[in-house]
Amino acid sequence: MGETLEELCQRLSLSEQEKEEIIVNEGLLEESKQRGEHCLLVSLLTEKPYNREAFKQTLKKIWHPVKKIWVKDLGSKPFLVEFEDQKEKARVQCEGPWSFDRNLILMQNYTREVQATRVQISTAAFWIRLYDLPLGAMNEKVVSKIGNSIGVVEKIDVEKDEVAWGEFIRIGILLDVTKPLLQGKCINLGNHGSCWVCFTYERLPTFCYACGRLGHSHKDYSIWKNDQGTCKEDNLPWSMVASVWFPWECLQPHEKQPVQGRGPTITVPVLQSKVLAPN
Ligand SMILES: [Zn+2]
Repeated sequence: MGETLEELCQRLSLSEQEKEEIIVNEGLLEESKQRGEHCLLVSLLTEKPYNREAFKQTLKKIWHPVKKIWVKDLGSKPFLVEFEDQKEKARVQCEGPWSFDRNLILMQNYTREVQATRVQISTAAFWIRLYDLPLGAMNEKVVSKIGNSIGVVEKIDVEKDEVAWGEFIRIGILLDVTKPLLQGKCINLGNHGSCWVCFTYERLPTFCYACGRLGHSHKDYSIWKNDQGTCKEDNLPWSMVASVWFPWECLQPHEKQPVQGRGPTITVPVLQSKVLAPN
C-alpha cells in the first residue's frame, strides 16, 4: 500500500510550493461520479503472480455481458470494470463468488476518493449451506441469527416466517476473506442441549486447509511440496470445510465426477431455489 501524505512529508523534504494544496471541489468530480455508478473495483485474491491480460479477458467471458464492459488495469492490484448497463453490474455482484484460475475474484463498488494503490477489498459474498440444523430451527429467524455470527447476511433461501425443512438451508453472506473460514457453529437449544451445525461453501475457490484462509493453498507450503506422502488433507485443521461446485462450473477434468465427502471439492446437482432478501 502507498504511503500516507504525512509519511511522505516526513520522508521527503517537500518545498513550500510542493506542499501547497490544490483544492478539488465537488463539481470537478461530478462526471466521474456518474460513470462510477456503473463501475466495480476488482482484484484477485492470490499471493502468486498471474497473467493480468488473461484475467481481463476472462472477466469478459465469464460474466457474459450483453452490453459492453471495459476493463481498465489500474497498474497496481485492482482493475476498474465499467459496465455500459448498470443492471449487468448488479447481476455480476449478485451471481458471485467468481473465480479466475480457482482464485477468488474480489469486487467492491467504485469509490472516487480512494487511490488505486490503496484499494483493499476484504469481503466477498458466498452462499453457505447449513447442514444438520435441528428441525425446529430450520426457519428464517434462526438462520439469520447464525448468519449474523458469520458475517453480513444478504439473503436467506427460505420464505419469510416459514419453516423450511430440507437437507440444508442456504444463506448468502458477505464474508471477511482475511479471516479463517468457519467450519460450522455450535447451537445451544437451552434445556435440550447443544449441537453442531456444519457449513458447506458453494463455489469455494483456492483455500488453505491448514490455516483456514482463502487466497492460497496448503499445497503451497514447503512442508507439503517436499512431502513424501505423509501429509494427509484429512489431518489438516480445516479439513471439515466442505465445498460444492456445480458440474458445469468445474474447471478441472478430474473434478467433473461427483465425489462425496469432507474437505476438497464435492460436486452435486444444482438446486432450484427461490432467493428472498430478508427485511
Ligand atoms: Zn494457509
